[in-house]
Amino acid sequence: MKNKGVLVVISGFSGSGKGTLIKALLERYPNYALSVSCTTRKPRTGEAEGRDYYFVSEEEFRRMIETGELIEYASYCGRYYGTPRAYVEKRMEEGQDVLLEIEIQGALQIKKKFPDTVLIFVTPPSAAELKRRLTGRGTETEEVIAARLHRAAEEADGMEQYDYLLINDELDACCATLHQIIQCQHHRAFLHREEIAALCGELK
Ligand code: 5GP
Repeated sequence: MKNKGVLVVISGFSGSGKGTLIKALLERYPNYALSVSCTTRKPRTGEAEGRDYYFVSEEEFRRMIETGELIEYASYCGRYYGTPRAYVEKRMEEGQDVLLEIEIQGALQIKKKFPDTVLIFVTPPSAAELKRRLTGRGTETEEVIAARLHRAAEEADGMEQYDYLLINDELDACCATLHQIIQCQHHRAFLHREEIAALCGELK
């Protein structure tokens, strides 16, 4: 079997708990690499350059688009976010499964460019729970919370375009399911075209 890593997009409403879920996945299972995005938004308290994001100016972001350094990018609530190409390609070549925590516009760009990508959408158990988590986080102003809730309603329309829907009710169970979904991708027949062709050749 070929050892190339799988590309995984994880999206979810702001407040869906996807950040905590991804952190748990990285802690519990080996062989995952999380891509760090570039953004033009300002760092939140506690966020670190190069760990949470690469915080860049709009000018720098535009330069990265022009030079093809980003495999996708999107605007979200007035700020730009994008995925650096080099890290993703290198880690996949090395056989690691690469996780992109990105929003829907970027997810669909990735699926178009790399159809083998698995798209996973994480939701909280209910809309009421989503509102509670978003307000309870205490890191955002009311205006930002309102914009993010509005955006959540828009994103809900695109959920059906994802391959899997994951309800983030109980962290341990959700993390185990996420791992299973990703590992199953390694066995998808279309990822093994070369082995299948070789087998057919030998049988004839
Ligand atoms: P936040 O500001 O809360 O960190 O992120 C806002 C949204 O941008 C989230 O839905 C997050 O998944 C998404 N996001 C983060 N990085 C990227 C990226 O590189 N590309 C795209 N398209 N979305 C991203």
